[in-house]
Amino acid sequence: MHRLLSERARQAQPSPTLALTAQAQELRRQGVDVLSFTAGEPDFDTPDFAKTGALEAIHAGYTKYTPTPGILPLREAISEKFERENALRYAPDQIVVSCGAKHSLFGVFMAILNPGDEVIIPTPCWVSYPEQVKLMGATPVFVPADETTDFMPDHDALRRAITKRTKAIVLNTPCNPTGAVFGRRQLKEIASLALTHDLWIVADEIYEHLTYDGYTHESIGALSKEVLNRTITVNGVSKSFAMTGWRIGYLGAPPEVARAVSRLQDQMTSNACTIAQHAALAALQNADSQWYDSVRATFDRRRRLMVDGLNGINGIQCWTPRGAFYVYASVRPLLGRRYKGHALESSADVAEFLLRVVGVATVPGEGFCAPGYLRLSYATSEAIIQAGIERIADAVGKLE
Ligand code: PMP
Ligand code: GLU
Repeated sequence: MHRLLSERARQAQPSPTLALTAQAQELRRQGVDVLSFTAGEPDFDTPDFAKTGALEAIHAGYTKYTPTPGILPLREAISEKFERENALRYAPDQIVVSCGAKHSLFGVFMAILNPGDEVIIPTPCWVSYPEQVKLMGATPVFVPADETTDFMPDHDALRRAITKRTKAIVLNTPCNPTGAVFGRRQLKEIASLALTHDLWIVADEIYEHLTYDGYTHESIGALSKEVLNRTITVNGVSKSFAMTGWRIGYLGAPPEVARAVSRLQDQMTSNACTIAQHAALAALQNADSQWYDSVRATFDRRRRLMVDGLNGINGIQCWTPRGAFYVYASVRPLLGRRYKGHALESSADVAEFLLRVVGVATVPGEGFCAPGYLRLSYATSEAIIQAGIERIADAVGKLE
């Protein structure tokens, strides 16, 4: 049977974030009392202003194919958004709309990578970057960081990771899973490496609106025209507008890259869902600072609750995230401790133990190329966060 599958398909790993979210949902369906902190999606509903855009599109008969890179009004709105919010100048023909930022990233890697190329990925990193790079026959090269540097990769370590084969560097700010936010100095360092060594910068800015404690998001492509010419900026409506299920992502890129992604998309998906494109257009046209502020304030309260609660548990150390909606908490002090005689040897063991013993679902650090941690999403209610923390404390109290 295996012989009939491609090397690529055999090599592909399932997404652990999606798998664990599904596992928690399935346990709940079976009646198991599970509190889930796995989901990488806002827990509130898509705003009415976006839904109205979709309903109007259906009634107006916008139900057919569109140009592969997306309807022109949406690409114009994205171009304006990039300029207004990010100081990025991408003309509408430099924009490609796709079926989610994940799809955009896939298209980018397909457009820029040859087998044997290398891509630098600072870790901890989101689960899909290394897998997508590997699917292109290219090699992810990891540059690790931890809380001692606020999860910022060391500049010299990044430089040392560059070889003749390096094609791109991935920059995810605000970062999933750590919540790190790259500052101007770090952006400049990365940009200068990209310019000196002729690399693409793949900037995933999907959590741009979620920053806290006075930290703000800056787009690396805004540093200069030269940097912009090397930068592919990926974004989408999933996180900013609670539209994960609508599957709309987009990118801005130098013209030849945008054309290449669009050509590849021609043969894969054609356009992203027409109705969802109209919903995304309405979302971008109607979003105001009040919307972003209220979402940010809600996440901020939950963030504090989560960080304080976890840090109150002996054996868990939680760095205070500055962006996104995850905490990346170290459980290294728990490793080696035992439950009913069985030692917890890895963060995967700790996640398994919490799910089995107290019904708390988390994503272990193994999936983010940085074991020893658990990622907990705080895109859930304060009541659930409170209850989850009590359960985790209870579970840790049972360890020998
Ligand atoms: N990038 C990051 C860092 C993410 O966390 C996600 C989560 N889904 C994505 C990209 C993909 O988002 P989507 O495909 O829903 O637009
Ligand atoms: N990005 C989200 C997460 O990290 C959604 C799941 C996924 O696409 O991996 O949980």
